Amino acid sequence: MASLRNAQRQARRAWNLLHVDAPGARRVAERVLASNPDDAGALGWAQLVIGMHTLLYSTAAEAETELRAAERSFLRARDRAGLILARAQIARARWRQGHFQQALSLALPLRDEGLSVLRHEQRAMLLNTIAGCFSAYGDSAQAFAYMYEALRDAGPRRGRGFDTVLHCNLSHELMQIGDYEEALRHVAQGLDRCRGLDNQRLTSVLLINRVACLTELGRAEEALADVATLRQMPATEAGRGRIEPGFETLAIAALRAGDRALGQTLLAEAEADGPPRLPDHRLERVSAQALLALAQGRPRRAVDALLPLEAAAADDEVEGQSLRIRGQFFDVLSQAWQALRRPGPAVLALRAWQDLHRRQAQLASQARYQAAALQTELTRLQHRLDEKEAEKRATERARGALVAINEELNRRVREVQSLQEALRQQATQDPLTGLFNRRHLNDTLPQLHALALREGQPLALVIIDLDHFKRVNDRHGHAAGDQLLSAFGELLATHSRRSDVACRYGGEEFCLLMPRTDAAAARRKAQALLREWRAARLVSDGQVIDGLSFSAGAADTWLAPGSPDALLKAADDALLAAKRAGRNRVGTAAQAAASAMSP
Ligand code: GH3
Ligand code: MG
Ligand code: MG
Repeated sequence: MASLRNAQRQARRAWNLLHVDAPGARRVAERVLASNPDDAGALGWAQLVIGMHTLLYSTAAEAETELRAAERSFLRARDRAGLILARAQIARARWRQGHFQQALSLALPLRDEGLSVLRHEQRAMLLNTIAGCFSAYGDSAQAFAYMYEALRDAGPRRGRGFDTVLHCNLSHELMQIGDYEEALRHVAQGLDRCRGLDNQRLTSVLLINRVACLTELGRAEEALADVATLRQMPATEAGRGRIEPGFETLAIAALRAGDRALGQTLLAEAEADGPPRLPDHRLERVSAQALLALAQGRPRRAVDALLPLEAAAADDEVEGQSLRIRGQFFDVLSQAWQALRRPGPAVLALRAWQDLHRRQAQLASQARYQAAALQTELTRLQHRLDEKEAEKRATERARGALVAINEELNRRVREVQSLQEALRQQATQDPLTGLFNRRHLNDTLPQLHALALREGQPLALVIIDLDHFKRVNDRHGHAAGDQLLSAFGELLATHSRRSDVACRYGGEEFCLLMPRTDAAAARRKAQALLREWRAARLVSDGQVIDGLSFSAGAADTWLAPGSPDALLKAADDALLAAKRAGRNRVGTAAQAAASAMSP
């Protein structure tokens, strides 16, 4: 688990270093691969870093292999952000290999999901890739628009150095539409940011762009310092990278600045680097060759160098040729015909150059419009995404609130139920003894009385009054009296049947209602209770309370027919008689009449 997290951390570190310290990023990524992590996500990011590094410092074909491996890892890890970035880089690798149309159709569909999944420099990378595809495809206006958008996402603080790449690409794109002053501004910003990064490749591309801008502005002499700097940077992985060393651009600048020897040297270096790889480089190479021939006073040779590519340079359908380089080609061509004193073809070449210039100007105004339109489109898309996200969050919040309300409701219902139960008990229960109270007796007696009459069964009622209870209070205190009442309540509760209703009638008087029981049986029951009570010993506050007794009167609905009150009165009369007879006994209503008392 620890190594898994470590692989993730290292892969992220490699990613963050990519545009700050490219060799460092690659080293970290290779260490992740060497550790052979189980984590497909970490593996994917490391492979992506290596693929992107390879794309910059080696061949696009090699890079594509690495990037496809990253794509597979991200698919396994279900990492959408990684997957989108890997696919965008695959598109880049495709256009680097000259498949412009295919690159665009790979990159463009990634845009909408990318906007919702990617942030900051990652989002900028996707937009920049789309821009690169448009640029390679010759649609500078779109390229320009996407790059401006990308720059909005990758400011200097959260760009992790990627904003430098964007300044570099923007300067390139501005050169394509002929806005060299604005291009120089972005070069300056890019170079300024480069000082904080260890990225010689980027520095060199920015310098090449500055050389090209100054040359186009007729200030080639000012570019010579940059040419010198560039010549000191090795065209290796440790320096400016193996690809696109830009010798042709430098040679043209040197020749325009009047330094023929330097121009010749640079052209030789370009030729030693092999045949040109991209259509623009092909045109630049022959333009440089022609300029050198012109400088050597050999205009025929200049024309001969250029003519084989004239048709291609004039052809809008040839992919990968920019208006700027094509314009430069015809500029040199017209110069060469002029040197040969052939005004006719010179004018034709000049016309071609003029036409390309006009189109560059059109493109420039179109680019500004396009940038505004794309900004609107992306902003609208972002709003839709934000709205969807907000809706989702609102639904989740509402669902959460509903759950909370439900829980609260359930809690309240339980609270009310237990409150009701407590109230119900309080209403019918005597708190001291836990027996029913007099109110309950008043409610129940008429019901049981009616039932007994209907069933033809007797209902017995016993009233019990503790003897000399006042003395207990007086001798042992009121608390001891309470204890005694509570103890008697317990005795009564444990000795009564489930169908009996045992109540505290008031004070030290109790009452037992016994359905389907006659007075004789009730009396026996009371006498048994009396025996238990007499035997009871209560210890309160260290003092023993004993010698307990009670008097009771029993009656039933047969002996005292009529109303419940008659039954109550009969039992009460029997109790009174028992008291009079000396307490500590149970009397019945019938015996009360006969004054027959037994202890
Ligand atoms: P007798 O044998 O004639 O019934 O005498 P007695 O003292 O039991 O009867 P009396 O009616 O004179 O006194 C009853 C006493 O019961 C008076 C009262 O202070 C006490 N008493 C009534 N309710 C309570 C109670 O809830 N707790 C306590 N500790 N005493 C109570
Ligand atoms: Mg009493
Ligand atoms: Mg009493």
